[in-house]
Amino acid sequence: MQSMSKLALFGGRPVLDQKLPFYNSIGQEELDAVVQVLRSGCLSGFYGNWGDEFFGGPKVKELESAWSKRFEIKHSISVNSATSGLYAAMGAIGLNPGDEVIVPPYTMSATAMAPLLYGGIPIFVDIDPNTFCLDPQAVRQAITPKTRAIIAVNLFGHPAPLHELKTIAAEHDLKLIEDNAQGPLATEYGQYCGTIGDIGVFSLNYHKHIHTGEGGICVTHDDDLAQRLQLIRNHAENIVEPLNIKNINGMIGFNYRMTELSATIGVQQLKTINKHVKKREETAQKLTQGLQGLEGLETPQVRDKCRHVYYLWSLRFDADTVGVSRERFSRALAAEGFPHFNGYVRPLYLLPMFQQKIVFGNNGYPFNLSNVSYKKGLCPVTERMHEKELMCYEICMYDIDENHIRLLIDALHKVYEHRKEL
Ligand SMILES: *Cc1c(COP(=O)(O)O)cnc(C)c1O
Repeated sequence: MQSMSKLALFGGRPVLDQKLPFYNSIGQEELDAVVQVLRSGCLSGFYGNWGDEFFGGPKVKELESAWSKRFEIKHSISVNSATSGLYAAMGAIGLNPGDEVIVPPYTMSATAMAPLLYGGIPIFVDIDPNTFCLDPQAVRQAITPKTRAIIAVNLFGHPAPLHELKTIAAEHDLKLIEDNAQGPLATEYGQYCGTIGDIGVFSLNYHKHIHTGEGGICVTHDDDLAQRLQLIRNHAENIVEPLNIKNINGMIGFNYRMTELSATIGVQQLKTINKHVKKREETAQKLTQGLQGLEGLETPQVRDKCRHVYYLWSLRFDADTVGVSRERFSRALAAEGFPHFNGYVRPLYLLPMFQQKIVFGNNGYPFNLSNVSYKKGLCPVTERMHEKELMCYEICMYDIDENHIRLLIDALHKVYEHRKEL
């Protein structure tokens, strides 16, 4: 077979000799919808004071009610990013300075920034090496009298152990927040990720399954949390009096409002979400099928009764079994034209802000309210995945057909078969 000839790294022909095309989910419906909003002259329907416009314009309201219906949840609150949504969630639960919030270190940084914004202390807890999501046993061990919440991340589109975490949260009177930026339509035991915890946060940024450029949605079954999220989104400080809000902890409002332009795109994207998610899922499943039996390369694990929606498709690399380091293997794979990156993100506690314990001002607040430690070695599984084992393929980004899938599989087989030369 031609593809099995000399490695491209050593001058052979690469298996994929063209760049994979980018996936574009924006169609005529989105274009028409945006033009209609532009023609109306009203690009945002929000007003930062009490009245009907406090809840946003017609497209924002349409998106929110369509989202609630699609995800089978009582309340959807649109925001201008998932980052804003996570911040709003921490305000909504009334976090106090010094409160501890359990978070995984293997996630996009916003997950761990959210508690800090309200003076909370992120407590990093290690992950399960099979799903890269929070390890519930480690969560149990990290709970102290100061713990107030758990932020679970449905990483790469696979559900964290949400029902188990919900049980743990109930036992200790904690809130469970889901960062579901990567997991729209993922499910655990038939229930949508994002809707299992007290608040779930979705992202509509450009890189996610469906997008509005920038944007996010918070969802909750709880009326009080929904109202607090709406207040924080839009200048709560002005609204607590007209609404006669008694508990004003956390009622400093931001401008996290979504524009009518984004919302109208969101309405259209939501109509086709099944198609976008299914395409990634099928591509991932074909890659996985094509790579069975290569010892030392582990394709994504899916827990029983879970749906994985593959924001990223991952490979776990066992250097001892393969007989070569991930970095060498990766270099040969890149030369064959297989786009990927290694290690996902650095464990978040290694960021300068945690290492130096400097965020707000120079006196160490809020870390000075706690004796938390962020030393290297804190979460060994995460460090091992980052430094040695994980390889990531950004499946969401590319428009891949059958032929591309075949070539990607061939590229991996080719490098694997030539591994002794590396
Ligand atoms: C993308 C992402 C976010 C942030 O989403 P934005 O909408 O860009 O703010 C947060 N958490 C995770 C896990 C993400 O992947």
